[in-house]
Amino acid sequence: MAHSIQNNTPVTASNSKPLDILIIGAGPAGISCASRAKELNLTATVVDANTILHTIKQYPKHKILFGVPGYYGKTWEKFVAGMEKNVLDFGLKVFENTDIKSIKKNSELFVSTTRNGKKFHSKKVVVATGINDNPKKLAVPIKDDKLVKYQLKDASKYKNKKITIIGGGDCAIEAALQLDECNAQVTLCHRKLKFTGNANPSNIQKLLDSDIKIIFNCNTTQITKKCVHLADKKTGKTTKLPAERVFVFIGKRANSDFLNSIGLELQENSKPKCNEKLESNVPGIYVAGDLTNEPLILPAVYQGFKIAGTIKKEINKEAMQESQDTVSSPSKINAVSKNASAATGI
Ligand SMILES: Cc1cc2nc3c(=O)[nH]c(=O)nc-3n(C[C@H](O)[C@H](O)[C@H](O)COP(=O)(O)OP(=O)(O)OC[C@H]3O[C@@H](n4cnc5c(N)ncnc54)[C@H](O)[C@@H]3O)c2cc1C
Repeated sequence: MAHSIQNNTPVTASNSKPLDILIIGAGPAGISCASRAKELNLTATVVDANTILHTIKQYPKHKILFGVPGYYGKTWEKFVAGMEKNVLDFGLKVFENTDIKSIKKNSELFVSTTRNGKKFHSKKVVVATGINDNPKKLAVPIKDDKLVKYQLKDASKYKNKKITIIGGGDCAIEAALQLDECNAQVTLCHRKLKFTGNANPSNIQKLLDSDIKIIFNCNTTQITKKCVHLADKKTGKTTKLPAERVFVFIGKRANSDFLNSIGLELQENSKPKCNEKLESNVPGIYVAGDLTNEPLILPAVYQGFKIAGTIKKEINKEAMQESQDTVSSPSKINAVSKNASAATGI
């Protein structure tokens, strides 16, 4: 399904014409943008540092998706199969294992270069690289590095094991529920007094109804050999929790080094600033999906769709402007009238 780059020739649409759009990131935002671009007769190519839908393929096995029409109560595997079929049936051009390291503007075109020096020439760029490759790390002394993981893939491996989860958002709660279902002995440690924010209310209820031990209002102070050290935020009382595995889910950050390097201004939360058209401070570079402040699949899909529409209008406008400039430029008019004289002999 994925295309491979054969040689050092820059990737263009055809006949060395630049692509209309290079889309960086084959997550829901990137694939949606490419699909809509194709419907609008734009030439678009998607590149991904890993694989199509890499982030979703890292979810815990058989996790049920929430908030995705058409997939209510279904696992992520079904969603991935549906999206991959869409990529194939629709003939979208996706290059896997292709990570973009730099983007430069060369007169009117963006030149995006991969780690291996391959180049993509495009009129516009959509950055849909997500935030999932950058989990926030626990900033406390960790003497047992191997104990700590930032991702749960297969809960069934942890049957009867003592597991500590640090965090209080959706990922932490879902992991706790999955591990509990697999008969792990789970303790969830949350630094706040209750669950707030974006956590899915039905999962919170399931958690509260389960036998999972929850310790609220605590800070993790250090991790030693098979042990998590906690301090109650109010009383300061310390607790040592024996653990055979610690999962940390305390949020994610965008890859600010990459985003800064391509000239994007960032907000305090490390996500790029953008306007209502999702265009960044660099004209012609758009941002979508988790890089905006709406980190879920449905907004990512919508934003990809919306950006393709905006780009179509922009490209049409630029083409019209160019043809007007050609007609009104005096040198061009002279050239046109000279050619006309030559042709007609007048
Ligand atoms: C465990 C977990 C469970 C979740 N469950 C749900 C759920 O049930 N429902 C829901 O709506 N949302 C859920 N989410 C959130 C959802 O996965 C994201 O909102 C969604 O994937 C965002 O899509 P995106 O296209 O912005 O980014 P992503 O899906 O993260 O895709 C970004 C892509 O960019 C690629 N990339 C990164 N850097 C580069 C580079 N320099 N060059 C090329 N490629 C690059 C990555 O490899 C990746 O494939 C969950 C998230 C997690 C972590």
